[in-house]
Amino acid sequence: MIVLLLGSGGREHALAASLKKSPKLTRLIAAPGNPGIAALAECFPVQVDDIDGIVTLAKHEGVDLVVVGPEAPLVAGVVDRLDEAGIPAFGPTAAAAQLEGSKAFTKELCARENIPTAGFRRCRTAEEGRAAVAAFGAPVVVKADGLAAGKGVVVAETIDEANAAVDAIFSDGAGGEAVVEEFMAGEEASLFALVDGTTAVVLGDAQDHKRAYDGDKGPNTGGMGAYSPAPVLSPALAEQAMAEIVRPTVAAMAKNGQPFVGFLYAGLMIGPDGPRLVEYNVRFGDPEAEVVLPRLEDDLLELLQKAVDGKLAGVAPRFRDETALTVVLAANGYPGAYEKGSEIRGLEAAEARDDVSVFHAGTRRDGDRLLANGGRVLAVTALGADAAEAQMNAYAAVDLIDWPDGFCRRDIGWRAAAQAEE
Ligand code: ATP
Repeated sequence: MIVLLLGSGGREHALAASLKKSPKLTRLIAAPGNPGIAALAECFPVQVDDIDGIVTLAKHEGVDLVVVGPEAPLVAGVVDRLDEAGIPAFGPTAAAAQLEGSKAFTKELCARENIPTAGFRRCRTAEEGRAAVAAFGAPVVVKADGLAAGKGVVVAETIDEANAAVDAIFSDGAGGEAVVEEFMAGEEASLFALVDGTTAVVLGDAQDHKRAYDGDKGPNTGGMGAYSPAPVLSPALAEQAMAEIVRPTVAAMAKNGQPFVGFLYAGLMIGPDGPRLVEYNVRFGDPEAEVVLPRLEDDLLELLQKAVDGKLAGVAPRFRDETALTVVLAANGYPGAYEKGSEIRGLEAAEARDDVSVFHAGTRRDGDRLLANGGRVLAVTALGADAAEAQMNAYAAVDLIDWPDGFCRRDIGWRAAAQAEE
């Protein structure tokens, strides 16, 4: 099979590494790819938002399956356009991608289907927002939706803080909406499902670290590290989340004529009453893909093909009984302003270690030199018998990388490693 992989981050490098292992693969191409992916695939300079360019490339290269990494082209309808052109694609249509694209869409679906999640109110004015804040009481969560999205999520400890967040959403008069939510206490974990339109099967789980600095402090980032499996998500809790959250969602989407095909990433809060949904993403996580996929024992390409063909019934992907842990190396200053173009050395030494993979997230080549080209630049993944061993192996590899202009957290996996050592 000829496969076209869309994207240029660490997640797509991890997808490429897994796809490459498949005996069914005859040729892997990527758009636009990155220097890590270029070692595994032929890269074409087509950007993921250039949907016409992607369709043309897929036709020209005789692609049998397109695998979409990031959410933006999914929400923009790349799968719909590929379908129209008769090119099989793995990922949701724009209608199904609303599960990530619109918080209000997902919240309303949960309410209709009795899916456990935080109580919520959709607010179209600041007055409605303030009334919802007063009704829930503190702590309370305020999220922007629709045109106001991108203004973030505020977990407010006090009513004043929540009201200020509501006002900020409506202050520019751009016509956005707010979602005000009940606060859910617990520990967060991510559950990944592979979905074929009607059947959803578990494709691993993980926990990530969103904050920039040690001790889970500092600003939010795209993710500074992750590990898999998530100790908090026992097999019984994962099955409960599939039964109460993921499968009813997939059934509702199919019933509404918007069947979901792709990776469905459920962000969960594990509280005293079991798992509740925080949010859905309609693609694999990054950096979670960099820890889940190295543990996958089965043929990823075969699994994705089954999803596209609607043949996942009875399939149960198998994983190595080891922990994978990834440490993200980011440019100094990230997630604020940072410089691009500094040189990174020592990758070969890190990659030479057993069970270590270095995934490129934001790099470019300049002749023989490897240069930083983004905020999150590398994800260094190691396997170990447990979280403590995976952590030790990952940091041993990180320490072989010579990049004075970058930083990483030194405590990725602290919670899981402490449990492993108990
Ligand atoms: P991202 O996609 O980057 O995770 P987002 O903007 O889609 O973020 P959410 O995932 O909905 O926003 O929320 C971000 C974080 O805020 C969650 O990971 C969780 O830590 C916290 N959070 C969101 N909703 C709640 C809630 N109802 N109760 C407690 N914490 C919450």
